[in-house]
Amino acid sequence: MLIAGNWKMYKGPNETRVFCARLRARLHHLEGVDVIVCPPYPSLHEAIGMLAVTEVAVFAQNAHWAEDGPFTGEVSPWMLRELGVGGTLIAHSERRQLFGETDESAALRIEGSLDAGLHVIACVGETEDERDAGETEAVVRRQVEAIRTVVEDENLERLAIAYEPVWAIGTGRTATPEQAEEAHALIKGLLDVPVLYGGSVKPENASELLSQPNVDGALVGGASLEVESFATICEVASRS
Ligand code: PEP
Repeated sequence: MLIAGNWKMYKGPNETRVFCARLRARLHHLEGVDVIVCPPYPSLHEAIGMLAVTEVAVFAQNAHWAEDGPFTGEVSPWMLRELGVGGTLIAHSERRQLFGETDESAALRIEGSLDAGLHVIACVGETEDERDAGETEAVVRRQVEAIRTVVEDENLERLAIAYEPVWAIGTGRTATPEQAEEAHALIKGLLDVPVLYGGSVKPENASELLSQPNVDGALVGGASLEVESFATICEVASRS
């Protein structure tokens, strides 16, 4: 099981220090689950330092594909690796919906991170309109195939997919376990990598979602911002 916490644009370095100290104490001795946190860029260094003595990995929330170059405002995956970052979260739906991320740019970012030696969690998922129009399978298939084209077989072991139906992110609405299972089975049929579910995962619904056969973990947004709820989800995962 893999549980990743996406902090979005929350927690600067000071808050990160306090959070990581508490998380460290809370997750002490937890087995059977890999835990990742994804702080905003300015807090990465702090998180890496605070969690260095633990098994908790630190991922960035995005990365460019080039090693360096004239790309003002972008961040190189090679520089993230030099900082001690373990991986990147690519093509989160907020990137796709609000910042013009496309299947093509997502594929470049995924390839760049893998080439830099990082792990990648690549996000896919349909909007509410797409689900209502019966297009869920076609959309998810298109997104996963765009990822598949750039991942070399030897890099597959550093890739995970997060299935995050856009209508369930930050809304309090969760896919039913059956809806999640159906999408995860589709994704795993296309690409044999761990598939995380994301979309309003909370301590109360984690067990039911994580017990689905094709659900290998969770990408948690809102509930990852509090140590107690995040640690509880990690504990549920360790028992699943
Ligand atoms: C996310 O940001 O990836 C996410 C799933 O958010 P939430 O858990 O708040 O729906």
